[in-house]
Amino acid sequence: MSKISALIEKLGDDLAILAHHYQTDAVVRHAHFRGDSLELARRVPDLSARYIVFCGVHFMAESAAILAGKNQKVLIPDPSAGCVMAEMVPADLAEEVLTRLRAGGKKIIPLTYVNSSAAVKALCGRFGGSVCTSANAPKMLEWALAQGDGVLFLPDMNLGRNTARGFGISPQEMRVLDVRQKGAFVEPAETGGPRIFLWPGCCAVHFKFKAEDIDRLRREYPDARIVVHPECDPEVVQRADGAGSTTYLIKAVENAPDGSTVIVGTEWNLVNRLAREHAGRVTVLPIKDAVCSNMVKTTEENLLALLENIEHAEPVTVPEEIAVPAARALETMLKVCR
Ligand code: 13P
Ligand code: SF4
Repeated sequence: MSKISALIEKLGDDLAILAHHYQTDAVVRHAHFRGDSLELARRVPDLSARYIVFCGVHFMAESAAILAGKNQKVLIPDPSAGCVMAEMVPADLAEEVLTRLRAGGKKIIPLTYVNSSAAVKALCGRFGGSVCTSANAPKMLEWALAQGDGVLFLPDMNLGRNTARGFGISPQEMRVLDVRQKGAFVEPAETGGPRIFLWPGCCAVHFKFKAEDIDRLRREYPDARIVVHPECDPEVVQRADGAGSTTYLIKAVENAPDGSTVIVGTEWNLVNRLAREHAGRVTVLPIKDAVCSNMVKTTEENLLALLENIEHAEPVTVPEEIAVPAARALETMLKVCR
């Protein structure tokens, strides 16, 4: 849309558009920076633009607002673009569960996947914990384990299990928590008991990929390489040839030999883009057509409407009492994973 290009040109250095890899082609083509959650969060502290437009989902824009300077405005084209997984962890319930786990005197460290509200990140900041993304989960889990007696991993049980398994932590050392009835079933952590406590959250998009799908694809494409996002079920991750962030998945296709086939288990907009970009060289196939209904809420139309009204648009804000401890949690991550 040339109107968008014209506005981008007019705003010049006052504007930075960041887009997550799951955004549609129509949107990513306007972005100054494209990336996975870690790469986009890393960009923010170095940006000098007055307006940071975040094409992604709300928790990403919220993290950007926490990391941005006081004179910068973070804006999102459709503020209703949430994340199903982030909504599975209310901060007050997470605090109740953490308090119960710590009741016996064990120092349980909260570590939240970046796919969570600012209030959950603030909880992690207040209790000596931090944040991770799919790209740095092993490093951050190792860090968190070294800070105490165990880890409360929020909210993605699959990323938690897949990461812990990568360290050789056995299923017996992990527990998926029953958080019903305001956490009434959660017992204090004990010596000799589990050291990884998993919040029972997951991504509705990656949940669609099943172990049977991988088995079927192996039969249909015996020579294909299968790579998946670590938000997938451990049964899927274990059957795959590799798992990692969206950037890892992009690199897996870029580095694939000519004439090969790569099956990519993640959001369809990214897989479809990879298929088109590498057509004729590498065959890229999805496991299933799984679209993130929130990511696709950003369109050229609402991006244009935002740019046209940028001076008066409502920015994403986080109250000071949440922003300060949440920033501590996020900055710890950026420091540990420099
Ligand atoms: P990445 O950090 O790997 O880009 O993933 C973000 C996400 O929401 C995946 O569903
Ligand atoms: Fe959230 Fe899943 Fe969408 Fe990622 S793909 S933003 S985890 S719902």
